[in-house]
Amino acid sequence: MAASDSALLPVYPRLPVRFARGQGCWLWDEDGTSYLDAISGIAVCGLGHCHPAVTEALCAQARELVHTSNLYRIAHQETLARRLCAAAGMERAFFGNSGAEACECALKIARLHGNRRGPGAVVLVVDGAFHGRTLLTLSASDGRRARDGFEPLAAGFARVAFNDLDAMRAAFAAHPNVAAVLIEPVQGEGGVRPAAPDYLAGLRALCDAHGALLMLDEVQSGMGRTGALFAYQAAGVQPDVCTLAKALGNGYPIGACLARGAAAELLQAGQHGSTFGGGPLACRVGLAVLDTLERDDLCARAARTGKALLARLQRALAGHAGVVEVRGRGLMLGVELARAAPDLARRALAEQRLLINVAREKVVRLLPPLVLSDAEADQLCARLLAVLEAP
Ligand code: PLP
Repeated sequence: MAASDSALLPVYPRLPVRFARGQGCWLWDEDGTSYLDAISGIAVCGLGHCHPAVTEALCAQARELVHTSNLYRIAHQETLARRLCAAAGMERAFFGNSGAEACECALKIARLHGNRRGPGAVVLVVDGAFHGRTLLTLSASDGRRARDGFEPLAAGFARVAFNDLDAMRAAFAAHPNVAAVLIEPVQGEGGVRPAAPDYLAGLRALCDAHGALLMLDEVQSGMGRTGALFAYQAAGVQPDVCTLAKALGNGYPIGACLARGAAAELLQAGQHGSTFGGGPLACRVGLAVLDTLERDDLCARAARTGKALLARLQRALAGHAGVVEVRGRGLMLGVELARAAPDLARRALAEQRLLINVAREKVVRLLPPLVLSDAEADQLCARLLAVLEAP
């Protein structure tokens, strides 16, 4: 393959393949070789590649109307807002084009909330967090590689150990004006680390006691990925704000920040916006995704397939010297290795025609489409074990 990516800023260490076609859980490169996709464009193509409902929504809407502006009412935006809020236990939505924009909106709501109460407002964020790469969301995120060199980062954040309620209690005690806690119910980039069973409920109680907003970033874990439409629903905890993107458009860019109660009343006309956000095309696709998730009961399917895959990988890798833990929720699974594996994704691609990703240097991250069949789950398992067991 020609080294023809030299006109791109080199911000991605890309693998040497170019895909030409996709269907369901499969991708084909320019030479026609097929690959099993266990990463779904990083939790984006939950319905699989080129799902007919999404393709139909895209084509039909492109023939009708692509863009007007948020200067005017947009029917599909209003419908998608109502449907998402009803499904998420929320009241109002703002639409952008990415996860970072969804989280940026959440953080602006947090600032309005904190600044209204007084000076010194902070948002509590955790170790291993990832909320995006705009300067505000980067400041909320952890990880030296993403942050170093971009100083000064935004002020107004305090970082706390993940899954540690005592640490969170201490942070509330140390900061009199905590505007919000922002957290992923299952950390993705941080190495597929689910919140401990009572952690989210503990955060809810702390936020209630201190008048802080609980903000859950479901950009990666949302839209059925963990076996519930939103991961917080399985934990029985209702946030004040929830952010979505990735699988909401199945590959067409869309992000959403959902809010309820006081959090839904803070942003006023002129305080936030987006030229493209919530356009007719993106929202029609979002509606097609929601319809398909519901019609095909894909949350339940993800829960079932994920549970079986997790158990199978745990059994197969028990006692494996190089494996520390196999964990996850639904079809958001991680295999933590004992040592960094910088070459593993390339080897899986070249040797097994399997797309995986490695988070935090040593956690193999599996995010296959929710439509993964049992036979495809068998193949995923076999191919992954072959890579892990190869010398
Ligand atoms: N939040 C979480 C939990 C994510 O995983 C990501 C992306 O991986 C983002 C936010 C940022 O999303 P985007 O890349 O669409 O801006």
